[in-house]
Amino acid sequence: MSALQPRLLVAALGVAAVLGLSGSAAGSAEPAPAPPGGAAIRDVVLAVHGGAGSLPRGTITPEQERAYRDGLTAALRTGSRLLREGRPSLDAVEAAVRVLEDDPNFNAGRGAVFNTDAEHELDASIMNGKDLRSGAVAGVHNTKNPISLARMVMERSPHVMMAGVGADTFALRNGVPYTTQDYFFTQRRWDALLAAKEPDATAEQGGSTVGAVAVDSARDVAAATSTGGLTNKLVGRVGDSPIIGAGTYANNRTVAVSCTGTGEVFIRGVAAYDLSAIMEYTRAPVDRAAAKVVNEKIPSLGATGGVIALDPRGTLATPHSTPGLINGYITRDGRIVTRVYDDETPTG
Ligand code: ASP
Repeated sequence: MSALQPRLLVAALGVAAVLGLSGSAAGSAEPAPAPPGGAAIRDVVLAVHGGAGSLPRGTITPEQERAYRDGLTAALRTGSRLLREGRPSLDAVEAAVRVLEDDPNFNAGRGAVFNTDAEHELDASIMNGKDLRSGAVAGVHNTKNPISLARMVMERSPHVMMAGVGADTFALRNGVPYTTQDYFFTQRRWDALLAAKEPDATAEQGGSTVGAVAVDSARDVAAATSTGGLTNKLVGRVGDSPIIGAGTYANNRTVAVSCTGTGEVFIRGVAAYDLSAIMEYTRAPVDRAAAKVVNEKIPSLGATGGVIALDPRGTLATPHSTPGLINGYITRDGRIVTRVYDDETPTG
């Protein structure tokens, strides 16, 4: 140890005392335990999630776990390649979400859940933190990648949000091929619908919604979210995922956020915008603002869920009030971590 170090330590403790820091911050007491997934992670350029849900160990097979991790890793590789090429964060989040929409393991695009009429109605939104431009689609039936349609609404229409037949027609007019509903089918989601229709079934089921947040070399952030919603949802039900400020938000002054959980409550709590507003108006760091929304506000409104939230400096928070949040991130130096439980599994 150099002679300087003890003096630096004394100086640091002195500064902490002057700033009124006590306990863990000054190093004299046990740090308060971070809520699940709540600890901040630094130097992140892209993060993705595959939904909040109940995934205690042993409830999914090792094959299913592998499939989730592979899907997250593929999305992270695709999005981060674009960032390395100097492309904007908006491109990275769209590309990452497209990979997850194409992966039948997730509840978005192919693999989306069924509504009560055994149809798929898809919701998605995307937002650019630099200028607050955003695009969203709700209740889409025949568009393979709703996230790209959301971006088209943002870039090729004067609107922010389009729904139903109008959104699918807008896709066709912009050269997106028509996709029949059977493309979205998976046996697993069909079985879930039948189970949800049993008389003794519990409430509507979500899970495996997907999302991405990114920051590029210009420190511009972006966010994107895509979902099939809740199994056995009423026809026409729209959740938080396509609603800017509820399921998705991005602002260079604060944060990029993608939410997952009971959509109705995320709408009522204006969750994604609230997280950003807490940061903007109180100067709270991303982990504290995210914990406030996810671990206090959403539960106080009677629901559970999680978020991925990334600030322009590359600090990521992934708090959740569900037993798990399927998520992963890639750091500036290319380290990939995927998390299906609350573990840290490096994959590349
Ligand atoms: N938030 C989505 C919705 O309510 C569901 C989910 O995230 O699992 O549509």
